[in-house]
Amino acid sequence: MNHDRLRNTYFDLIGINSISGNEREIASYLGDRLSSIGLDVHFSEMENIGPSIYAQLNGQNDGPTILMIGHMDTVAVMDGWNTDPFTPIIDGDKVYGLGACDMKGGLASILETIATIVEENILLNGNIKIAFVSDEEVLSRGTYKLIQDGLKADMAIMAECRFQEAAIGFRGRYSINVTVNGQTGHASQYPFVGESAIISASRLAIEIENLPTINHPQMGGGTWCIRHIQGGIKSTLNIPDKCEIFVDRYVTPEETFESCRDQILDAAKRLGMGGKVIVELVPREIPYLEAFEIPRDHSMVTTLQKKYKDITGENLSVGYDRSVCDSNFLANIGNIPTVTFGPSGENLHRSNEFGYLSQVEKSTLIYIETIKDLLG
Ligand SMILES: [Zn+2]
Repeated sequence: MNHDRLRNTYFDLIGINSISGNEREIASYLGDRLSSIGLDVHFSEMENIGPSIYAQLNGQNDGPTILMIGHMDTVAVMDGWNTDPFTPIIDGDKVYGLGACDMKGGLASILETIATIVEENILLNGNIKIAFVSDEEVLSRGTYKLIQDGLKADMAIMAECRFQEAAIGFRGRYSINVTVNGQTGHASQYPFVGESAIISASRLAIEIENLPTINHPQMGGGTWCIRHIQGGIKSTLNIPDKCEIFVDRYVTPEETFESCRDQILDAAKRLGMGGKVIVELVPREIPYLEAFEIPRDHSMVTTLQKKYKDITGENLSVGYDRSVCDSNFLANIGNIPTVTFGPSGENLHRSNEFGYLSQVEKSTLIYIETIKDLLG
């Protein structure tokens, strides 16, 4: 591993504006770097979105394929930066800049891992795939397209910013639209005539937030959050005949949209609204990110833990994430067991984001040793 090169790559990446939708420049930078290592680089183009890139390092012998993946995009520049977000500012071990934590350190580590394996002629009984994707901070369309186009691997390291704890499971989430129907009529005759959909929906909304979720022993439970409610007619003297509730639902691995839908319909029935309520997924351009977990004793998990201990002297615990990321698509749609682990920092998605240079270096060493072990 070349420390200076790794540091320079990390700084170069922070210096490139790659706010979601604007990934072309960073994709060509990373593409050039992979080409200079000797790999064939493929661009995955999408309309109105930045490209993703992918490449493969073929081993000398057959064996499993490991995917190393990270997203190139960052969120926008938030208010409150004390320094230029596109100029890396070094303060001891901290490096300030947009993406310094989420997740340009991870990208630099992947690149240095591949460069080191090639330069040191490390024997691989298997292959390494590399994917640098766009749009993770928006809809995960970059990763989704790669999977749709046939991306396959036996296991994956998602180099997202989690250093103290590797994530082996994520919750999933759905946006659910609940339509409550009432009966309209002249407002002057209410409540002797008609049935207010707004009142019914309000009662149902309270019931929904009180619904149970399936508890996962480590991940905890799901979430019911009413995020928006809308109904009624302002312009004429009518009793509201329709009201829509927008429900944000985080789920654990045993929960599906169908189970959530049934819970809402049962609640409606208990409130005497059977047959008046429609529950649908809010249409989304690509599928929802569903919950998943991989076994704690998967070789990818145990090998990362072993190498982490060798390199840092500390134990790497495994954990579960309460939100969603590209790992959900890799695990659920791509069927690729995925561990999320990489250099981290603080203030992600906020001003004055920073990463720890020492974690970028240690992650690289851990990746190299993990690959040597799994493909050795
Ligand atoms: Zn990220």
